[in-house]
Amino acid sequence: MKGIIASKGIAIGKAYVYSQDEIELDKSNTNDINIEIDKFNSGKDITRIQLTEVIKRATKTLGEEKAAVFHAHLTMLDDPALEESVINKITENKIRVEIALREAIEEISTIFESLDSEYMRERASDVRDVGQRLLYNILGKTIQSLQNLENEVIVIANDLVPSDTATMDTNKVLGFITEVGGQTSHTAIMARTLEIPAIVGCNNCLSMINNNDTIIVDAIKGEMIINPSDDVIDCYKIIKQDLEEDKKKLEAIKELKAITKDGHEVELYANIGTVKDMDKVIKNGAEGIGLYRTEFIYMDGKEFPTEEEQFNHYKTVCEKMEDKEVIIRTLDIGGDKGLPYFQFPEELNPFLGWRAVRMCLDNIDIFKTQIRAVLRASHYGNISFMIPMIISIEEIRQVKEIIKLCKNELKSEGILFNDEIKIGIMIETPSAVMLADKMAKEVDFFSIGTNDLTQYTLAVDRGNESISKLYNSLHPAVLKSIKTVIDASHSAGIKTGMCGELASDERAALILLAMGLDEFSMSASSIPVIKDLIRKVSLADMEKVLGNVLELNTSDEIINYMDNVLENCKKEQVI
Ligand code: PEP
Ligand code: MG
Repeated sequence: MKGIIASKGIAIGKAYVYSQDEIELDKSNTNDINIEIDKFNSGKDITRIQLTEVIKRATKTLGEEKAAVFHAHLTMLDDPALEESVINKITENKIRVEIALREAIEEISTIFESLDSEYMRERASDVRDVGQRLLYNILGKTIQSLQNLENEVIVIANDLVPSDTATMDTNKVLGFITEVGGQTSHTAIMARTLEIPAIVGCNNCLSMINNNDTIIVDAIKGEMIINPSDDVIDCYKIIKQDLEEDKKKLEAIKELKAITKDGHEVELYANIGTVKDMDKVIKNGAEGIGLYRTEFIYMDGKEFPTEEEQFNHYKTVCEKMEDKEVIIRTLDIGGDKGLPYFQFPEELNPFLGWRAVRMCLDNIDIFKTQIRAVLRASHYGNISFMIPMIISIEEIRQVKEIIKLCKNELKSEGILFNDEIKIGIMIETPSAVMLADKMAKEVDFFSIGTNDLTQYTLAVDRGNESISKLYNSLHPAVLKSIKTVIDASHSAGIKTGMCGELASDERAALILLAMGLDEFSMSASSIPVIKDLIRKVSLADMEKVLGNVLELNTSDEIINYMDNVLENCKKEQVI
């Protein structure tokens, strides 16, 4: 089967089909209410044993504080109000336990959702969580999770939400294949960050694969093979080993600069999602962090992270980077990134909806908590702010006002921070491109988010595999936008980086180099490959290449031309 390469590499292993079955509930009346009540009680017994086990494991691996959530689940399970509601429904309406439970859980979580306190409202998702676990146990179904896998597996799923990838056991997941998603969906980005070979957009793979089938993920060609012969497996083992050796060879250039043959130097930074990614950042010789996707801190928990918790994350990252720059992006939630404990409105077009800075400006308390945490951490290293999804000067000014407010608060509390902290914005909307000259006068730097910029410029959903052929960051309109932004920033004397996935595309890197991009930020594992390439070319040659690219009219012409250029560069031939 073919799909879209999300993260390059080869993986061989047993399939783990990760799909929560749609549960069909039996709506017919019951003949024996006692059986239903018995099922409720034994479902609760099993759930209690499971939760006690979860608490033990969570205390060991995540600590007391995080494990407290599961204590709360236990309390909810044994809440007399739940028991009373379920039993009344069964006895009075002669309905089955599963229907009674679903109604009771809905009623209780709706009450939580209507409360004034944000903390209490967030408890609604815990009630649903416990309700779901109990329902599965009553029906004798197994609850799946990627958190506690027993064996090494290849995960097969319709899609993985960011919270699945954020919490999964990365030592056990050898690779993954999903039915939906595109090259820049968050599942794909996480796969690259974690260096896990992955293929997305693999239509109907769930219906073709059974648990324990042997699977080869060939994320070099964009194929997967189900139950291959031993010969094919042996052949892939050799390819896998060759790839690992190539990777080792590149480690030798870790300490070298990203400098062209004619002396033009650029910065190679890394994108990270969590502190866990820092080992790979150091191993691959990143010169800074160009994008810290802080939303993963939020997605990993059961409630909004506190200022202290965030401060610890940011401080750890900047201390590990010593005096190197760490660009912290403020919360970019919404779109395809939800939170288990926060209800986003139902939207027809979530990517055009209430996300990122829009959501933060409507929730000043949540925003201020993060800003204060970043400011406090700025005392311990070289931290900058970066604001996502900007479309207007007003938004930039509002954010700056809030940062100023937080600075004043910290000053009056006698807490230290870097008063000169830089504030940059992501350029990921056509509006920001059009206003780049004006925006450049308001901020300290730009970073181009080509994942979103491509989807908004071309009006092509980045996660929709049925239009993935149209999603192309080497489209002439996207390239022209990038050039406009870099030129505008340089006229205003500020730097432009790129933290979208395009920065790690070898063909694009050559074009971006010639456009004058100052900083390239990417998954840490891509840094050595791009550095090796930059060191093989000269800026003067690439400027000629850029001149030719700008004359071309279609994406295909650009891709074909750049494929050729890249091949020649790799052979170190004069263009
Ligand atoms: C981007 O849009 O290019 C980007 C880097 O942000 P994200 O992928 O997190 O939306
Ligand atoms: Mg983005």
